[in-house]
Amino acid sequence: MVVAATLTGIGSKADKKLYLYFMKKKIVIVGGGFFGMYIADFFARNGHAVQLFEKESSFMSRASYNNQARVHNGYHYPRSILTALRSRISFPRFVDEFQDCIDSDLEKYYLISSKLGKVTVNQFTKFCERIGASFKPAPDYLRKLTNPVMIDACFSVTEYAFDSRKLRDDMLDRFQGSSVNYQTGISVDNVRQYKDGLIVTYSNCKSAEIAESYADHVFNCTYSHINYLLKNSSLELISLKHEMTEMCLVDVPDELRRVGLTIMCGPFFSVMPFPSERLHSFSHVRYTPHYEWFDKNNTPYIDGLNRLDEDRKYSAWNYMKKDAMRYFPILEECQYKRSLWEVKTLLPRSESDDSRPILFRANHGLRGFHCIMGGKIDNVYDVIEIITSQHILD
Ligand SMILES: Cc1cc2nc3c(=O)[nH]c(=O)nc-3n(C[C@H](O)[C@H](O)[C@H](O)COP(=O)(O)OP(=O)(O)OC[C@H]3O[C@@H](n4cnc5c(N)ncnc54)[C@H](O)[C@@H]3O)c2cc1C
Repeated sequence: MVVAATLTGIGSKADKKLYLYFMKKKIVIVGGGFFGMYIADFFARNGHAVQLFEKESSFMSRASYNNQARVHNGYHYPRSILTALRSRISFPRFVDEFQDCIDSDLEKYYLISSKLGKVTVNQFTKFCERIGASFKPAPDYLRKLTNPVMIDACFSVTEYAFDSRKLRDDMLDRFQGSSVNYQTGISVDNVRQYKDGLIVTYSNCKSAEIAESYADHVFNCTYSHINYLLKNSSLELISLKHEMTEMCLVDVPDELRRVGLTIMCGPFFSVMPFPSERLHSFSHVRYTPHYEWFDKNNTPYIDGLNRLDEDRKYSAWNYMKKDAMRYFPILEECQYKRSLWEVKTLLPRSESDDSRPILFRANHGLRGFHCIMGGKIDNVYDVIEIITSQHILD
């Protein structure tokens, strides 16, 4: 079967043919997470013919949903000034572009613990001043909820949460008026050079039927699955670290309904509103990653998405709660609802400084084949900047 291709938002069949004829480049995007969708829309708006393939049955159902939903504003990265500064630049842009998807009506607090912490109060305030991020003392009611033996200082800051469902719907709305040809339930399994371009082989996840498509450029935006396509195409793997992560979704006590908390910077935890489900996400540096593995050349490739399906998923919620209660006794009253499990993927160099740079490998092993990964949702602007400044399509 040739998987049906439909162009949305353009009139008759003849119109579509004519429209495609005059388009500049044929681009295939692999992966319909936020990155793949945003980049697809960007190219379509610039007059290219874009085909977007997503393996799951719906868009943005993997890491772009199963995350903490924090729109980073720099505070989280005292150990990586570059990531902090990039966040400061992206934050207003992201909040402005996706206004309807942002929960800005929350009180966000960063707290410093002298016990086991990697930053002191003095270091944190100096760091905030350095990156130009405002902060003020948290209100009394919040401080009274803390255990003063464990918490040295509480700061009120500006940081928001995004609603991933709304983000997805916003991107799908954008596609309506564009030439992006998008399909779910399609796995891209191989890419190879053909004349001046590339041939992409893909399969229907339900029927297993296979089809091929020609492209001038292919963008691999599959996050934790980047090396799957490289492995299948006999290309060099990219060194990546993967963590099997558990993000708990909880109902918080009324006092914390509008509150987000992050204790810096060590084996602590974060509790953030999770707007898509009107709950809070709960992550813990020690318990959210259950185990890790690495993609490396010359070692057997482990398919992270298969591993995620097969994992037994024993929740660490009780450990998270028990530890968090030592800092915020009221957290004992949280009602656990369920957990989001996801493979979190990091560049190995992020291990030491907790940075979140993007990965951008242009022409990775094949001319016109590009691999992209963003460590944060707002990193997408860094990707667009590279695509334009480095004239990737030229
Ligand atoms: C636990 C956790 C917490 C996080 N917290 C935050 C946070 O608070 N704030 C923040 O900004 N960022 C956070 N992040 C990072 C953020 O989620 C990612 O940077 C972002 O979602 C990556 O988007 P993506 O589109 O690249 O990946 P994804 O959303 O995973 O999209 C990749 C897509 O590719 C598809 N795919 C895979 N293989 C194939 C194939 N062969 N063919 C077709 N499709 C394929 C997948 O099904 C998937 O939909 C967190 C991540 C995790 C895991």
